[in-house]
Amino acid sequence: MSPSPTRVLVLNSGSSSVKYQLLDMRDSSRLAVGLVERIGEQTSRLKHTCLGSGDTREAVGPIADHEAALKAVAEELGRDGLGLDSPELAAIGHRVVHGGMFFTEPTVIDDAVLAEIERLIPVAPLHNPANLTGIRTAQALRPDLPQVAVFDTAFHTTMPESAARYAIDPRIADRYRIRRYGFHGTSHAYVSRATARLLGKTPEEVNVIVLHLGNGASASAVQGGRCVDTSMGLTPLEGLVMGTRSGDLDPAVIFHLARVGGMSMDEIDTLLNKRSGLFGLCGDNDMREIRRRIDEGDAAAQLAFDIYVHRLKKYIGAYCAVLGRVDAVAFTAGVGENAAPVREAAVAGLEGLGLAVDPGLNAVRGDEPRLISPAGARVAVAVVPTDEELEIATQTYALVGTGSAPVGNNS
Ligand code: ADP
Repeated sequence: MSPSPTRVLVLNSGSSSVKYQLLDMRDSSRLAVGLVERIGEQTSRLKHTCLGSGDTREAVGPIADHEAALKAVAEELGRDGLGLDSPELAAIGHRVVHGGMFFTEPTVIDDAVLAEIERLIPVAPLHNPANLTGIRTAQALRPDLPQVAVFDTAFHTTMPESAARYAIDPRIADRYRIRRYGFHGTSHAYVSRATARLLGKTPEEVNVIVLHLGNGASASAVQGGRCVDTSMGLTPLEGLVMGTRSGDLDPAVIFHLARVGGMSMDEIDTLLNKRSGLFGLCGDNDMREIRRRIDEGDAAAQLAFDIYVHRLKKYIGAYCAVLGRVDAVAFTAGVGENAAPVREAAVAGLEGLGLAVDPGLNAVRGDEPRLISPAGARVAVAVVPTDEELEIATQTYALVGTGSAPVGNNS
């Protein structure tokens, strides 16, 4: 009998891009990573790295659609002897942004699952269509292979109604499926568990505040391994100040911009999602550039930083209250893992809540989970690198790894 397949291909299909990683789940090692960008344009770009040989190949040229993109990815993998036709491939794991309230777990994809992801398009118009295209294309390439959907929202489905509901008429909320779903769930799940491990505890034993600070940013309150609150809502617009999103604001700002400013709904949508946050405040959304400008005495960059940190601090305080007892605060993603000044400023003055950062530890850079709070601190403050692809691969493999999982009814 041939040994069970152990490889998982993780696909993250965006509207004009596909990111992918091939992992071997025997040791969670990466075999290949890559990215196809600008799908549908003349200057599409494919960048592929084979980790075994260290080879990186880049190609620029038209890639018409997701099908062509995945075929190109399959070809690149094939050149490294890692093709999609390999018997060692156990499954394909897909990141799916919105699973609504329906999907609380990773799910083997069949026709019913596809139909439900499609039904959720009105609440995730930008993301779910691209995710669906990725799934359908991968199914066409390997119809015999289990394909698994791992949802960004799933980790947050444990939120109590008191945190998940907006204070609006429930009949209207239910009719339009308006509630707080939360996003970045794969990262919050991974980082909260990794933080427990760093403390030498099980996830059930600890309460953790996770601060996922990338270009998009969200906070979550995780009690004994279960999410009880998170800062993103119906869409990823709510909550923290982000690279280009405003985060929380009085909903009346929207009425005001429409009535007094004469802006259309699409213009306001673009303003709040793409031209706000750090970028809207100071013209830059990269924290490195903002710190550089602050060092040069730039007042707009300083104010953007201060607004960003103020919001972050408010959420830390709020989640201390939601959790009652906090064991750890974990910083993750591009800003959280790299920007020591953000971590220092977010925790400054919170000694009363048991929170502090040791400047020496905070300045140390590294890829491993690490504590940055002073020895003996009541609450651990940690930097815990996220790894959403590994989490998707782990969840996918857990579902199909025995080779016994049913392949969906995709015919
Ligand atoms: P996303 O996955 O949301 O696109 P990431 O988690 O990769 O984002 O985070 C990207 C952001 O991280 C950048 O926009 C930048 O602000 C920040 N970042 C990355 N590296 C550094 C660094 N060395 N110092 C400060 N900020 C950084």
